Parts: sequence; structure tokens; C-alpha cells
Amino acid sequence: MMMREASCTVAVVGGGTAGLALARELKRLDAGSVVVLEREAQAGGTPRHCGHYPFGILEYNRLMKGPDYARRNWEEAETAGVEIRTGTSVTKLLPGGSLEVVDNEGVYRLNAERVVLCTGVRESSRPQRFVGGDRPLGVITTGALQSSVYLKGIRPFERPVIFGSELVSFSSLQTCAHLGIKPVAMVEEEERIRARGVFTPYLWLKHVPLHVGVSNPRILGRERVEALEFTDHKGRARRIETDGIIISGRFRPEAALLHRSHLEVDGGTGGPAVDQYGRCSDPAYFSAGNLLRPAETSSWCHAEAREIAIGIAADLRQPSKSESVELHIKDNRISFVMPQSLCLTGGRAGMSNVYLGLNMPVDAKLAAYSSGRLLWSQRLRSRPVRRITIPVAKLLDAGPDGPVELTLED
Ligand SMILES: Cc1cc2nc3c(=O)[nH]c(=O)nc-3n(C[C@H](O)[C@H](O)[C@H](O)COP(=O)(O)OP(=O)(O)OC[C@H]3O[C@@H](n4cnc5c(N)ncnc54)[C@H](O)[C@@H]3O)c2cc1C
Repeated sequence: MMMREASCTVAVVGGGTAGLALARELKRLDAGSVVVLEREAQAGGTPRHCGHYPFGILEYNRLMKGPDYARRNWEEAETAGVEIRTGTSVTKLLPGGSLEVVDNEGVYRLNAERVVLCTGVRESSRPQRFVGGDRPLGVITTGALQSSVYLKGIRPFERPVIFGSELVSFSSLQTCAHLGIKPVAMVEEEERIRARGVFTPYLWLKHVPLHVGVSNPRILGRERVEALEFTDHKGRARRIETDGIIISGRFRPEAALLHRSHLEVDGGTGGPAVDQYGRCSDPAYFSAGNLLRPAETSSWCHAEAREIAIGIAADLRQPSKSESVELHIKDNRISFVMPQSLCLTGGRAGMSNVYLGLNMPVDAKLAAYSSGRLLWSQRLRSRPVRRITIPVAKLLDAGPDGPVELTLED
């Protein structure tokens, strides 16, 4: 039997914050037929199960909860004329912009002039966090907790330990409070919490003890979780009685499709290698949202996706020549850079920021050189899981004539 075939101008893989914002912007720019393919039964992405504030302030001048924000993004895209196909998974990326797609009628091929990958991030799992011990029920990520609490109204446990201390770990406190779940501790392997220090008083308010600098965590329990054991920062063995573990944060790009494709993957971000237009190694493919880098807020992804849409619309009108320079990391305290190359032609559309990640706290000068010439520098005092950016315009205006080298000078 012949495989069904369909075509469109732009196919967007993933109907979350970035996919919907980008699709809507493409329609506003009259970029042809735009189809969003979303595997879940509803579009909206991760904010659908973040039943807390604050979402939407920058985009809609309103303080919204995640589900309202997700619905608004969906409605705005549909009203603009975007076709949103839910219950539809993309299972293969083929060269030149062809997708293998599965819906409830079976498999079909979608041929698009441009494809945009917006599949988001996920939290690291228990094995990826090297948490040892037994394998009982009651160990879930923050995302799974949110979906259980806000979408299904189910309490997976009564007194969990939160493993991790990022912003999303603190949001899990709010999620727990929604159904009267009382976390008994927050546990972090690093010496300090990973979220900003201003969040610490929130733990005091909620009477949740914080343990930092822990090592060798082990989960105990036959059927359900019974305890978390670990070595504390003074080398003492500790045990916390608990009935659940929330494995929280350490986001990674949702890149399963990417890894099975012909597209180049960047070792630093774990997402696709792109230029400032979000263009991948196959020029029919672009990417936006948190797939580009783990992980940003919804507002940031929304704005950045709209910037990328402007570049894609321009590329559809006239494909830009890809004269570009690569961005190279020259200090191992920098964990990633995104985009990984800068296109020197095609005007100023595209992402307005180069985005960096750190492996460790840094107090140094961040500098960008090309052929030994200083293009840009700034004092940087920052920590991992913080937003660090360099304006793309500053680098382009300085006229790089070879690879741009990013370094830290103490
Ligand atoms: C657990 C968690 C909590 C968060 N909490 C907050 C918060 O409180 N505030 C905040 O500002 N940000 C929060 N974020 C970040 C926020 O989710 C993102 O900034 C934003 O949603 C990113 O948009 P995105 O489009 O990149 O990804 P998402 O919104 O996650 O959308 C990705 C979409 O792609 C779909 N998809 C994936 N693979 C396929 C496929 N093969 N075929 C079809 N569809 C596919 C997914 O189903 C999903 O709908 C959180 C993220 C997570 C994971």
C-alpha cells in the first residue's frame, strides 16, 4: 500500500510555547501554510501542567497560570490560521524537509519547504542523576508530578524529598502545596542551591530543611519508597524517612528524534547545531525553544521563537547564502554556546543573543576574539544555570573574519 503524502510550507514539530509562538508569527508574516504537529491530545506544551503563576506577563501583559497561558498560545495560533494537528507524533526526520508522521489513521509522509523542531526539554531521570539503591514506586520527575497533580488530581505521595534545587525544584513546592503534599526535605549535591539564593527563605516558610553538598544518594524501599540515605557535607551518613522522591531539574533537550536523524547534534547543548536563525546543518531544518539549550523560561522561548520565525519567513522569500563563522569555546568552564555559528549574510533577523552555559561558578572577563582581535568583552560573575548572553549584533558589528573564540580571562 502507498504511504499517504501531504505537503505544507512550514511544518513545526512540537506544539508547546515555542512551536505555537513561532507558527503564529509565521502566519502573521504571511509565510504560507503552517502546520503544527503535536503528539499530545492537546497543544500548549509543558505550561499545560504548570498549574502555577507566573506566565504570560511579557507576552500578554497578564499574570497567568501555566494552563491558561498554554490555552492562550494555542488559541492565538489557531486564530492566526495555523493548522494544529494534535495526537500526531513525528517519528523520523528525512533530508530536505520530509517527515514521517504517525496519527490515529497510521503513518504518512509530510513534505515541507521548512521544518522547525520545537520539541522542548525534559528533566534528567534517576539513572542520569546516579541515584542508587532500590527500585520502589514513588520516584518521579517534577514534570510527572505536575501532570499527576494538576491534570489528574492525583497525590503520588504525602511527604516526598525534593532531589535538586533549581527553579523548577522550588516550583515543585507549589505543586505539592496544591494538593496538601508536605515535602520533608530538599537535597542538593552541589555546595549551594542551584536557583538564586533569594529562593532559600521560601524553604524556611514551608518548613522544608535543606541539605546541600550531599553525596552517594540511595533510595530505600521494597514496594514504595521508604527512605533516602546519603552522605552529608561533613561525611556523616544520613537517612530521611519519606514516601516519595521528586527527581528535579538538570534539564536535557528532548532530542530523541534528532539523534536518529541526519542533523548535526551539538555536544555542549545536546540539541541541534544551529546558526542565529535557528538553522540546522540541513538548511531545510530550523529549531526553536528549549531544544536549543537547556533550559529557559516560557517568556524567553516565546520571544526567541518569534525572532526565529522572522528569519524563516525571510529565508522562504529568499534563501540566504550561508557564509558563516563558527563559535568556539576556549575555556572548559564554559559548558556550551548556542548558536554554534553566526551567519554573516541575511540581515539582522534571527536570535538577538548568543547564549552561554557554565560548568562552575565564574568571576572573570568573558571575551570574544576573532583572528586574535578582541570583538567584545564584559565582566562575568555568574554560576551554572544562569542566563548568560552576548548580543549577536555586537559580534557581527565587530566584523569577525574567522571563527569566534569565547574565552574567560581571570
Ligand atoms: C517540568 C517543567 C517545569 C517548568 N516550569 C516552568 C515554569 O514554571 N515557568 C516557566 O516560565 N517555564 C517553565 N518551564 C520551562 C517551559 O516549559 C519552557 O520554557 C517552555 O515550555 C519551552 O517551550 P518549548 O516549546 O521549547 O517546549 P514545550 O513547551 O515543552 O513543548 C514541546 C512540545 O513538543 C511536543 N513533542 C515532543 N516531541 C514530539 C514529537 N516527536 N512529535 C510531536 N510532538 C512532540 C511535546 O509534546 C510538547 O508539547 C518548565 C519546564 C519543565 C520541563
